[in-house]
Amino acid sequence: MVAQNSEDSKKEKDNDILKSTQEVVQDALGRLGYPDEAYELMKEPVRMITVRIPVRMDDGKVKVFTGYRAQHSDAVGPTKGGVRFHPNVTETEVRALSIWMTLKSGIVDLPYGGGKGGIICDPREMSFRELEALSRGYVRALSQVVGPTKDIPAPDVFTNSQIMAWMMDEYSRIDEFNNPGFITGKPIVLGGSHGRETATAKGVTICIEEACKKQGIELQGARVIVQGFGNAGSFLAKFMHEMGAKVIAISDAEGALHDPDGLDIEYLLDRRDSFGTVTNLFEDTITNDEMLELETDILVPAAIQNQIREDNAHNINAKIVVEAANGPTTLEATQILTERGILLVPDVLASSGGVTVSYFEWVQNNQGYYWKEEEVQEKLREVLVKAFNNVYTTSQNRNIDMRLAAYMVGVRKMTEAARFRGWI
Ligand code: NAD
Repeated sequence: MVAQNSEDSKKEKDNDILKSTQEVVQDALGRLGYPDEAYELMKEPVRMITVRIPVRMDDGKVKVFTGYRAQHSDAVGPTKGGVRFHPNVTETEVRALSIWMTLKSGIVDLPYGGGKGGIICDPREMSFRELEALSRGYVRALSQVVGPTKDIPAPDVFTNSQIMAWMMDEYSRIDEFNNPGFITGKPIVLGGSHGRETATAKGVTICIEEACKKQGIELQGARVIVQGFGNAGSFLAKFMHEMGAKVIAISDAEGALHDPDGLDIEYLLDRRDSFGTVTNLFEDTITNDEMLELETDILVPAAIQNQIREDNAHNINAKIVVEAANGPTTLEATQILTERGILLVPDVLASSGGVTVSYFEWVQNNQGYYWKEEEVQEKLREVLVKAFNNVYTTSQNRNIDMRLAAYMVGVRKMTEAARFRGWI
């Protein structure tokens, strides 16, 4: 009964995410003066594929898994986006996230449309061999509709470079030649890119630097709060600390740590486990909700969705909120923060460093010539500074919040491409 309820509430949340995404997309297209057909095309993926994947488990029995792939828009070029392995994956979630990928690609001006995939499974309860069979089965089931010029997957929740390597190997076997450009997030020895692992946190860092400039905040010595200490949050805390900012609070799913004089980030990084948990080692913790309301210069939600809502947005005590997580602030809360003069840098812009370096990986695979880490970092900075300022200027010129401005920038490329192709 409990499982059923949590399943229902997940479905409800996914519906809310899809609806609120569609709402902002519609608003953005309307403000750009596009006709209704543009929204009709943009509101759902052009292709939604469901696959069933039989896997012989270690106990000898066959288990059949359900997987999805959404290809939101191929107007600009191939679709691109991660594949998540999670027991709570839903078709609606995958559809909504594929729209976000189109927006992100448009914002950072990549030659892609959005894609997203997922398999309903719990990788924490599967052996290495079972995971390999599932990853290969997913690629076999989708091999006709994915590929380096069609749809390029990448890692996402609970998938990693090993899973990308198996998927690339399976695709290469089917294709009968080595095809690293089929997927990104691969190990370096198989054509992965330097800087991919830290790309999201680097992108968030660049957005923080730019936002600080706009708000007249000196990053050196500025107070920073980071919610979530996983891949995105922990690297971000590290970068902030290295840049001389004072990380006064961090949190994970168990609770939060606060020290107004700044936390010992290196110690915390050293002690965190592979799931991004560290606060369980301490006694004097506060709750996540208490942490979000502490006075700070910069607040970075880097954990889960729906953290800043109508009920707590009035108590947020930050000058800048930069969304590293997907959907941490509701639309109502966005409005409240904006009215209170807090600059909110939205997820579709702030967390686009990952897809940008994925694009660099694909480019390097296509040309067969690989860049040094510094080269990747330099190019990432160039792309993100331009994207940030493009969105910021749009928000200033039109007197709208940065989320709506980012959506306007994000939808424009795809819609223009669809128009030139004669689709709308
Ligand atoms: P992760 O699984 O590595 O870490 C998640 C962190 O959030 C952990 O520290 C976990 O303890 C914490 N957490 C979980 N539930 C929480 C709760 N209720 N309250 C507070 N903390 C909680 O995940 P990640 O890869 O760091 O991703 C974090 C967010 O950033 C997600 O929304 C993800 O979609 C987004 N994002 C990540 C990337 C990336 O490249 N990693 C790219 C784009 C967007």
